[in-house]
Amino acid sequence: MQIDNTNFENKKVIIRVDFNVPLDEHFNVTDDTRIRAAVPTIQKVLKDGGTAILMSHLGRPKGKDDKFSLKHIISTLEKNIAQEVTFVDDCIGDKVKSIIDNSTNGDVILLENLRFYSEEKAGDENFAQQLSYLADYYINDAFGTAHRAHASTAVIAKFFPNDKCFGYLIEKEIISVDKVLNSDEKPLTAIVGGAKVSSKITIIERLLDSVDNLIIGGGMAYTFIKAQGGKIGNSLVEDDYLELALNIIKKAKENNVTLLLPIDTIIADDFNNNANTQLVAIDNIPEGWMGLDIGEKSSNLFKDTILDSKLILWNGPMGVFEMESFQKGTIDIALTLAKATENDAFSLVGGGDSVAAINKFNLGKKVSHVSTGGGAMLEYLEGKQLPGIAAILN
Ligand code: AMP
Repeated sequence: MQIDNTNFENKKVIIRVDFNVPLDEHFNVTDDTRIRAAVPTIQKVLKDGGTAILMSHLGRPKGKDDKFSLKHIISTLEKNIAQEVTFVDDCIGDKVKSIIDNSTNGDVILLENLRFYSEEKAGDENFAQQLSYLADYYINDAFGTAHRAHASTAVIAKFFPNDKCFGYLIEKEIISVDKVLNSDEKPLTAIVGGAKVSSKITIIERLLDSVDNLIIGGGMAYTFIKAQGGKIGNSLVEDDYLELALNIIKKAKENNVTLLLPIDTIIADDFNNNANTQLVAIDNIPEGWMGLDIGEKSSNLFKDTILDSKLILWNGPMGVFEMESFQKGTIDIALTLAKATENDAFSLVGGGDSVAAINKFNLGKKVSHVSTGGGAMLEYLEGKQLPGIAAILN
């Protein structure tokens, strides 16, 4: 069932949202992206004339703990949906049920943190069933936890065999990845960066079967450069992965994938924003120096390929973008992605720190889709079946 084809009139709809937002020391929400992302689904239920019952986790509480109460997000939620919210200080049981039974169409009810019960993460069936008693219909709109088989993200779905669907957020995430990985449009370019080859290897191997161009940057690039005999000084390297890096280069050739590695790099004499820096060829880094960003020639090389592409996937920064001295390569890629999108390419930024980077540079609105789910997006790109997705589809 699709959300747009469902009418929620007179229905009590329990929606698994991802309100796991950052709070400051006064418990103010410091980034409401995830709350904003849930608004379209909540409003669809309300507009149809249903009751929206919202459930989420917040942080990693060990049992009930006021610090992790979802009451801290009420005012931010109310601002975003422009209406009052009824907060219940529990998520299962008679009290919760009676508040929901006495609610009227158009009401929004926010349940207390699911993870106050250890049964949530354990995927406990009885707990999931108790949650299911609260509603007539289940919507999963929490992409960030879709890779977890928790009670509220997956197990609960079995109690709504015909009354369950994805919310708009998950729908968009799935459509975006499918568009990039399963479309016939070409050329398809993947840009993979970040710290380590080891954490991205499954994705890289999978991408080699579908992409036309694979751009590798960030810390992981130095393992590829060393594997080919380059001098990388003190740059990040995974010596256990040198052979694998060579295999990837070989497989790319066999699959007719153009593999692009950086050709120049900004090196530093310390892992520090104020370190001394130089721009050098990436395979000629002196001892005692480490590559912390790609250089301009690399940015331009990557730019030509990106601007030629119809579909673009970006995962992982090109350098240590958290430090101003080493953010230029990542900014250049983000700007190029924005330009390609303006020229009608479809661009997806997903998984990990490239999302943080694109938001840091305020370019999130200039690409086609920025994923909200870090780990979930990585696993989805790896081709794994996510329990939260499978529970709705099956
Ligand atoms: P990941 O979570 O694997 O996407 O990695 C992101 C992290 O990689 C960021 O914190 C970056 O600072 C780091 N990173 C990117 N390039 C480098 C580099 N050349 N050397 C060390 N760390 C890097």
